[in-house]
Amino acid sequence: MALPVSMEDTELFPKGVKTLDLTPGTTYEPTAIREMLTSLSPLWWSRLLISSRGFTINLLPANDEMTLFTVDDAYTSMHARLVAEPDHPDSEERRAEKEKFIANIYTIVRFPSVSTVLAELVHGGAPSENVSPFAHPTDGEAFTTVFGEANEATYRIADGQKHAYLAFSRILSLLQARWASEKGKKKIRFETDPEWQPDNRVVLFEEFCRGNRTWVLLDFDRHILRFWRPRGAAIIFGDRFVEKKKREGLRLCDVCGMLEQGRDQFKALAGFVLCSPECAQEAATTVK
Ligand SMILES: [Zn+2]
Repeated sequence: MALPVSMEDTELFPKGVKTLDLTPGTTYEPTAIREMLTSLSPLWWSRLLISSRGFTINLLPANDEMTLFTVDDAYTSMHARLVAEPDHPDSEERRAEKEKFIANIYTIVRFPSVSTVLAELVHGGAPSENVSPFAHPTDGEAFTTVFGEANEATYRIADGQKHAYLAFSRILSLLQARWASEKGKKKIRFETDPEWQPDNRVVLFEEFCRGNRTWVLLDFDRHILRFWRPRGAAIIFGDRFVEKKKREGLRLCDVCGMLEQGRDQFKALAGFVLCSPECAQEAATTVK
């Protein structure tokens, strides 16, 4: 069974909102999760995370780089844990780890007043529930597994990453409910090329001067480019967008697949188009 979704789906990715909704997802059906992990392709899961991460980072408070980077890390970690290698189907063991990871996410987001409690831990106050979630007899393991051992650095990470887990849990809950009811026949599918097209929120753009809008590459973007190399740009932006850019004369890095932001941005060296000294280095090693 397929589960069509896209960034045009305003139930999943509401438009016109100014702040991130930190209401946790309420639906958690282990059976639906197991079926979704088994049936939906790595490309589907990858684009779900690419879209959810774009949606989340575009709604974070401006000028809060600490939160931006921790949220980016959370999505990188979710992608690394949840998306199977395209050419290597999951073993039973690996799938069980994914189910456990998602179970941990729901334990975290459903902890009473989790957003407030994590903020209180950072500011050194006693959590209002009197029990630190990290020391909680049944839920504590989920917190330490996902965020690390309880200490001040971990509390700061958890308080930043909560934005990612809360937002993703809400989106994944809506999808589980759809999965269970087998409806939601919206047209565009994450896993169908070349139809899939995200909207502008899929990555962070920054305007450096008028008309010069540039994709700001964060670790998550690099992770996606590496994971799907050399198809990364098309996985993020859709095949059609990349084809259009190519017709406009923009090129892809031959090593990592990064898309040029402006004409002749990348250097050509010995027949290769190369985005960075790192990729030039890698091309040199391969050629030898
Ligand atoms: Zn490159």
